[in-house]
Amino acid sequence: MIEKIRLAKSTIGAEEKQAVLRVLDNEYLGMGEEVRLFEQELQEYLQTGREVVCVNTGTAALHLALHCLGLHEGDEVLVPTITYVASFQAISATGARPVACDVREDTLFIDVDDAKKRLTANTRAIMPVHYASDSRHIQGVYDFAAEHDLKVIEDAAHSFGSKRDGVAVGDCGETVCFSFDGIKNLTSGEGGAVVSDDTDLLALIRDARLLGVEKDTEKRYSGRRSWEFDVKQQGFRYHMSNIMAAIGRAQLGKIDRAALTRQGIVKRYLSRLDGLVDIVPLQLDYDNIVPHLFVVKVKGGKRDGLRDYLVGHGIECGVHYQPNHLLTRFRSDYRLPVAEKAYGEILSLPLHLDLSVSQQETIVTRIREFCGR
Ligand SMILES: *Cc1c(COP(=O)(O)O)cnc(C)c1O
Repeated sequence: MIEKIRLAKSTIGAEEKQAVLRVLDNEYLGMGEEVRLFEQELQEYLQTGREVVCVNTGTAALHLALHCLGLHEGDEVLVPTITYVASFQAISATGARPVACDVREDTLFIDVDDAKKRLTANTRAIMPVHYASDSRHIQGVYDFAAEHDLKVIEDAAHSFGSKRDGVAVGDCGETVCFSFDGIKNLTSGEGGAVVSDDTDLLALIRDARLLGVEKDTEKRYSGRRSWEFDVKQQGFRYHMSNIMAAIGRAQLGKIDRAALTRQGIVKRYLSRLDGLVDIVPLQLDYDNIVPHLFVVKVKGGKRDGLRDYLVGHGIECGVHYQPNHLLTRFRSDYRLPVAEKAYGEILSLPLHLDLSVSQQETIVTRIREFCGR
């Protein structure tokens, strides 16, 4: 039987298990002390003066940020077509329309020149996605947004732990949303967070994650409940539980090692795949990102062939992602040629903390075999 090599997985140790047991033993499972501590420790890790608000998924983080920024029906939000459908669904959940934009060929980051063509009187915001953890080209987005008075919401689901111009992602830019789902750089089982330079926005989000109950967060963090309260805005049931936060805290305690492992895996891929003309890695800021995905473009019409070959040898691969403007719900009446071409070429190779050097050598050997045929 061939050994199966997984594309992605959670890596959970004794620390996470003990942390969950601690919460179960306390018999306080909802949002309380663990969440308060997780938010504080995230803030310390990011070395930021900004507050961190945790929620139950990355999608909820995006939705709450957009909702509390006032996005609603009739508004349009520019977003790269190559992203997880979560970005699009979070926008449409507010009633606003996601407007798919093309991506840059080198990084698959949003192409600002294309975004400019999609600007209308209804455009209110732009959501750049840190595709495969990279956001080195974001300044163009901020310049464009400043010119047209657009809000910027960074989908940083892939990039927790990464740096941009020497500053932690989350400690720069406007409103930044992380995902802590099972296979992201840091996991709390499921989870997400919003970090922003806008303290009024964060105050709204803190209430909106708990059904809009005013100042419920402070009460819960001090072990109390709200019996008499006011509600002025639409709220959601998006708060993080103590169980999730406990997992996240244990993960955060090991994040530096995890980051180095991910970076090391990607550096080995880059050096071992060097020289293969049909395999072209994205031009990412590999020295400064903590990579969530390792994506190559497979040239010469060979992507599907290589994918089938690897899968046939027990090596799971991925395609991140189908362009959203090709989905029924988000279909556009215009073409996005760079994204559509990239969609036929991209392949994600296994990247997770339990990937061994010998497994990685197996993957590289299989790719070399296929390319040499
Ligand atoms: C994972 C992800 C999200 C959403 O995060 P969840 O925690 O799964 O809801 C959003 N955008 C991108 C690009 C993602 O990969």
